[in-house]
Amino acid sequence: MAIKKIGVLTSGGDAPGMNAAVRAVVRTALSRGLEVVGVYGGYDGLINGDSRPMNLRSVSNIINRGGTVLLSARSPEFRTEAGMQKAISQCLKHEIEGLVIIGGDGSFRGAQDLTRRGFPCIGIPATIDNDISCCEHTIGYDTALNTCMELCDKLRDTMQSHGRCSVVEVMGRHAGYIALNVGIAIGATSIIVPEVEYNFQRDVLDRIEMAQATGKNDFIVVVAEGIGGAEQMAKDIEEKTGIVTRATILGHVQRGGTPTLSDRVLASRFGARAVELLLEGKSNRVVAEQLGKILDFDIEEALAMKKTLDMDLYNMALEISI
Ligand code: ADP
Repeated sequence: MAIKKIGVLTSGGDAPGMNAAVRAVVRTALSRGLEVVGVYGGYDGLINGDSRPMNLRSVSNIINRGGTVLLSARSPEFRTEAGMQKAISQCLKHEIEGLVIIGGDGSFRGAQDLTRRGFPCIGIPATIDNDISCCEHTIGYDTALNTCMELCDKLRDTMQSHGRCSVVEVMGRHAGYIALNVGIAIGATSIIVPEVEYNFQRDVLDRIEMAQATGKNDFIVVVAEGIGGAEQMAKDIEEKTGIVTRATILGHVQRGGTPTLSDRVLASRFGARAVELLLEGKSNRVVAEQLGKILDFDIEEALAMKKTLDMDLYNMALEISI
């Protein structure tokens, strides 16, 4: 029997573009004759039955806003069997027959647990870290890259004026996608990512010295969060080279802001496809983008896939950013 009512929630770390995905889910659902409720506060909201019916105007004026109007949370209670059962009984009580879950890999593990207990879920990848293996670009990643690039450009102005070195730590959890791409875009002297074994002498000092020898006198080192230690690295660089060096940890400014065009379009496509999948009777799927096409994968298979850093891109960066 065809479903009549679905819910949508955002979970885990927020990402710019989540609102655009919520909007697309709501509008597609309504357009296809479904009722749709917004669940507030991620899995916590599911457990507490904090949901409200959405109409076409509920999602007006949000496509351009960062963060998530549905609010997000990390819900330890949801990871307990009792919490999970509460969430399912709330869905039954509110006659929600399928859920669209917008978040990262943790959120998809939760979706998988719900599906295993007979509740249909579709995941939409939204994380600035871009660490969902089946998906080339996740919602929020493009915005975060552009935010980081702009902030680094600003730092660079001061580094150039004063002939200094800047160590910039960017987000990405265990992945170096933000660091690598931002490093290329701003012409960082060194790019330190968790996917490549790190050697301070070779990867930082030697490169600064090489650049110095050819007349360069300002330097930016981009360090991925997965490596960390920007403060110490700055001290070590200053001590070894004598170049005044400052550390900047960009932090949560990277997660906020107006989503870029790419993120808005991607989020809209993901949202629409997620609703279609529920209407097709599918469950435990995650939507994804590869080579510009929207695909979907089994969540379990998607979570088991490995995503590797593009080493050609990394090596190209080493060659040209000097
Ligand atoms: P993200 O979705 O951004 O990776 P988290 O890892 O914090 O963020 O996950 C968001 C929420 O998903 C958690 O607070 C928890 O409720 C749920 N979750 C995470 N991991 C699991 C898991 N292994 N099993 C069930 N639920 C999980």
